Amino acid sequence: MNMMLTQSDTAQTRAQDNAARLWAASHLADLPTVTRFVEQRVRRALDSQGRWVRQAFAVTVRLEEPRRFMIHLYTEATLRDLQTAQRVVECAKVDGVGDQVRGGDLWARTEYGWRWMGGTVEAGTERHDDEVRECRDAACVDQWHSWSGDEQNEPCALEIRRPADWCTVHAFRFHGRPWEASCSAITDPTEGPQGLQEIRALAEAYEQMQAECDRLNNQTIGAAA
Ligand SMILES: [Zn+2]
Repeated sequence: MNMMLTQSDTAQTRAQDNAARLWAASHLADLPTVTRFVEQRVRRALDSQGRWVRQAFAVTVRLEEPRRFMIHLYTEATLRDLQTAQRVVECAKVDGVGDQVRGGDLWARTEYGWRWMGGTVEAGTERHDDEVRECRDAACVDQWHSWSGDEQNEPCALEIRRPADWCTVHAFRFHGRPWEASCSAITDPTEGPQGLQEIRALAEAYEQMQAECDRLNNQTIGAAA
């Protein structure tokens, strides 16, 4: 995110920054983040300075119950876009939102809070280097991946498992690296004994996924030997 300084860093702006940080610490820092896919395609647009900007998500923050950040990922968004969105949330939790922040005009007021409508500036040559190649990993659920030179932009993946409504278990592998299991929670577990069962199911699904990864990693080593 390029946040341009248009005025000198005076004592007044520093005081504003401090006020915004205090506000963020008491209103935003402990909010959960929910991630959803929305039916809107990734867009590219020219910004006011003539740079190409990729818009792959929006971020909203809701200050009324249910209080939360929500990442709205557009169709065709990549793992990189998700990571950028997560950075937007992390920055907001520290620096605040809206007119409190320099470059904060990217945050627009909504009925319940704020909405971040920015994009990420694309380097001039980046898109030319990107190339879509067919995936040659038989275990991967994706048929294609985009590459920048020798770098695979999104990892290979196994079928996602959902041991409970609020959590998912994934496995991924970047080029030249082993398969790795991971899990993520969208909200908190259900309260009470039901929640404990869900946590157990999550742990079990994670172990199974890691076992599957180990099996695939051993196969690869076997094939290379
Ligand atoms: Zn793949």
